[in-house]
Amino acid sequence: MALTLFNTLGRSLQPFAPLKPGKAGFYGCGPTVYNYAHIGNLRAYVLHDILVRTLRRAGFDVCHVMNITDVGHLSGDNDEGHDKMLKSAEERGKSVWEVADMYTRRFFQDTERLNIQKPTVICKATEHIDDMIALIQRIEARGFTYLAAGNLYFDITKSAHYGELGLLRLDDQKAGARIGVDQNKRNPQDFVLWFTKSKFENQAMLWDSPWGRGYPGWHIECSAMSIKYLGETFDIHAGGIDHVPIHHTNEIAQSEAATGKHPWVRYWIHNEFLVLDKGKMSKSAGSFLTLQSLIDAGYDPLDYRYFLLGAHYRSQVQFSFEALTGARNARKSLMDRIRERVKVLGTGRSLRELRNKPLPPSFTGGKAGAYLSAFTAALEDDLASPRGLAELWGLLRDPGVAAEDALLGAFAMDEVLGLKLAEEAETPVLEASQDMRDSIEALIAERAAAKKARDFARADQIRQILKEQGIILEDRPAETVWRRG
Ligand code: AMP
Ligand code: ZN
Repeated sequence: MALTLFNTLGRSLQPFAPLKPGKAGFYGCGPTVYNYAHIGNLRAYVLHDILVRTLRRAGFDVCHVMNITDVGHLSGDNDEGHDKMLKSAEERGKSVWEVADMYTRRFFQDTERLNIQKPTVICKATEHIDDMIALIQRIEARGFTYLAAGNLYFDITKSAHYGELGLLRLDDQKAGARIGVDQNKRNPQDFVLWFTKSKFENQAMLWDSPWGRGYPGWHIECSAMSIKYLGETFDIHAGGIDHVPIHHTNEIAQSEAATGKHPWVRYWIHNEFLVLDKGKMSKSAGSFLTLQSLIDAGYDPLDYRYFLLGAHYRSQVQFSFEALTGARNARKSLMDRIRERVKVLGTGRSLRELRNKPLPPSFTGGKAGAYLSAFTAALEDDLASPRGLAELWGLLRDPGVAAEDALLGAFAMDEVLGLKLAEEAETPVLEASQDMRDSIEALIAERAAAKKARDFARADQIRQILKEQGIILEDRPAETVWRRG
């Protein structure tokens, strides 16, 4: 069966036909690094991971490119309010570069904990300013720009296909355009390619350019870096649904303006949002849940991955701790079933070895093979992970499937699901995962510091938090040790 993806461009399910046979070029919009990624952002990266893993399992040689938006003012379209990176740096008493570096490291720590594979290319905006300038020059040379009040704008009326991705009705938007629109713009949807006159004060990141010292607009970063690493047209571009009407629409307009090629990207994949029961999660609003906060509440990052896999990426998902607990319980019984099969197989068999074993011919024609085919069909049908999980459960519940076949099938499915089934099954049930251990150690260190500062209320609170997770602390003369209660 061929891989089919829902293409936002055209709003339809389309068979995936790559530009170059056997290869897939994929660009996923990466994080802005002036703060931690929240669990909504991480939903986007789990989707990218499922997409890449599905492509790889289908035999494609995937080049996955991810940008790091390490320039604060690149993260919004308006030249208003604060430079987020600068604000974050001031609040933390650090330089903007230190802030970007720290949150980049934290981001990859989160993605590693979620078992998200590292992209093939990770590129920082600040290291590609020359590429952005060169691309803007091409756009300018082809007559798509105008200068106004020191800034270089993109004129969307010059773009033949503007708004196609978002099915935008420009007349409606013009009529509805309200106050707050930059008076220098000829059209409300025009956007800045290069700023030299900024309303931001104390700009920390500035570069020389043919238009003067300043900084690039928000969207050019993704066009410049994706073209650099994937070529002037490429296969797949992904991001959250919020990026459809502005960021991706403008990326398309300026890329096609520079190269004259249409379509620039052939498949656009967008994930729906994860919402809290209280409403939207926002990075700039500052109040959001991080992966660490889930770990601190006693969950394993893979519980969150399982939770996300339980919903289709094009459905909005409401996060709640009750639902996450449901995912944790489901994952636990999944692991129990795997361990039962391991027991039947007997000791002395390395699961990792089994995981790497090619599927025997008897497997493909048998019952387990049928579950695996159904799993593959589900994932290749627009990445239907909930149906994929159902096939995994079907396989593990079926008494007619021999233990070794069940494990071989489950591990093959796990190449896409990324739930670390083999590694987790080899971890004794009562032993905490590395993430849990790190989190416990961090809380013990925080408790020691609280006691030193005579903040006994916090120290007791930490003991209580750990107790609720079944962890008992024992204070010894030189150290505090922990054990499962
Ligand atoms: P940012 O770091 O804010 O640029 O966002 C990184 C990615 O997360 C982008 O692809 C966004 O579209 C996506 N995103 C932001 N908020 C959410 C959310 N609540 N649920 C799912 N995806 C989100
Ligand atoms: Zn982008």
